[in-house]
Order: sequence, then structure tokens, then C-alpha cells
Amino acid sequence: IVRMEKLNKNFGALHVLKDVDLSVAPGEVVVIIGASGSGKSTLIRCINGLEEFQSGRLEVDGKMLEPHGKASQTLQQIRTEVGMVFQQFNLFPHLSVLDNITLAPRKVRSASREDARETAKRLLDRVGIADQADKFPSQLSGGQQQRVALARALAMEPRLMLFDEPTSALDPEMIGEVLDAMRELAREGMTMVIVTHEMSFAREVADRVIYIHEGEIVEQGRPADVFDNPRRERTQSFLSRVL
Ligand code: ATP
Ligand code: MG
Repeated sequence: IVRMEKLNKNFGALHVLKDVDLSVAPGEVVVIIGASGSGKSTLIRCINGLEEFQSGRLEVDGKMLEPHGKASQTLQQIRTEVGMVFQQFNLFPHLSVLDNITLAPRKVRSASREDARETAKRLLDRVGIADQADKFPSQLSGGQQQRVALARALAMEPRLMLFDEPTSALDPEMIGEVLDAMRELAREGMTMVIVTHEMSFAREVADRVIYIHEGEIVEQGRPADVFDNPRRERTQSFLSRVL
């Protein structure tokens, strides 16, 4: 569903992604790990066109994303099919939980009010906060807000879900509830690309772990291989710092 070949991305003089090749198969769960500033966020933001890139090939869900952010219609289509959950929940503060979730399906998918509300309630139930539908984001805990953000993304029936450190802004006691919802999603077969520092979660849910260092994929493989038997010295030293 994702095919990235020799993708290069610069911020001015800074070469952030260097000839990155990354393919993601339908149903696959890929976890990206690496030090701060290594390019993890930039990489996944390229996948849904939040960042433009300078060269390389990038196909997402059968659509080509062109270098330099051309083809805005394609961008719209891709953003409709790709859900994203960020470190900061980015909910609309002036809308209720239910309205946060129904907004995009109604506007972009032309869903009826009733259908959108029914779907939203089902999704809230699925992430364990059915009782919070009429509250506003500021009335929820961080873990609850992040689960609303997840439900909001799922309401668009995405073919691919991207996560950028979804639990990094949460108090420790709320991390588990968000990871549980993500684990459930993985079990249901959702295709997921996840940037996280939660290594035990990565080990458990990832089909493949990718270690990125200074904009290059240094190592990738099954979690057991990457975590227990890293082949590259860089991976070893990174893991010895985070595990
Ligand atoms: P972290 O773990 O801290 O989130 P990361 O791996 O996600 O780090 P990126 O956010 O992708 O790293 O950043 C990669 C590099 O690109 C960093 O050196 C960062 O300073 C730089 N960078 C990111 N966004 C921009 C921007 N909008 N303009 C200029 N430089 C940027
Ligand atoms: Mg980041």
C-alpha cells in the first residue's frame, strides 16, 4: 500500500531523508525507531503529503505523490485514505467529542448526520470511551483525548494509519489505554506505520521494525531479530540506550 523508493528530503541545506526505500504491505504493522532528529516524523509526514520531498518515487494506495508537492488533487485523495494520529491530539477544542469525529465523514464523505453519529458512537465504544461522547476535549484526560483522535481517524475508514509518537505526551498511567486500542486495531488487520519509543509494544505488535539513523534506514527486520540480534553497531548502541 506504500512504496517509497530513493526518497530524498531536505529542509534547506539539511539533508533529512537520504535515499529511503520503504514498502508497506496491506495489513502490515511497521514500527519506526531512532534517535531524536533522525527523521522519523519527516518520513511518515511524507507518506500523507504533509511534507513535500525533493526526489524519489512515492506511491500511496495506488496514487503517485510527486516531488515538490505537485498534484494537489492526489494529495486530497491520499489524505482521505490515510489516517494520522499525532503526539499532540489536535482535536477541535470548540467541538464535542462526537462532533470531532463526525465532522470529516460528513464534509468529505458526505455521510448523513445519523450515519456519522452512529459510526462515531460505535468507534467510541471500540476505543472504550462511549460515555464521553458529549464532552468537550478539555474535559477529558490525555489518554481519552488521544483515543478520540484515534476514533476520529478511523471514522474515515482509512486504508492506512500513521502514528507519530501517539503516547509521548501522555502521563505514564494513560499510555497503556492508548496502546491497548492500537493493539486491538493491529489485531483487526489495520495497516499501520508507527513511530514510537515504546519498545515492548513495538516488539509485541510489529511485523517489522525499522531503525533510522540520520535520515537513513540502517537496519530492519522482525522485532526479535532487530531487538535481540542487531547486526549493525549503530543499532546496538541505540538499543543499549533505550532498552
Ligand atoms: P523526534 O524523535 O525528536 O521527534 P524525529 O526523528 O521525528 O525526531 P524529525 O522531526 O523528522 O526527527 O526531524 C529531522 C530533522 O529535520 C531534524 O534535524 C529537525 O531539526 C529537522 N526539521 C524537522 N522539521 C523541520 C522544519 N519544518 N524545518 C527545518 N528543519 C526541520
Ligand atoms: Mg518526531
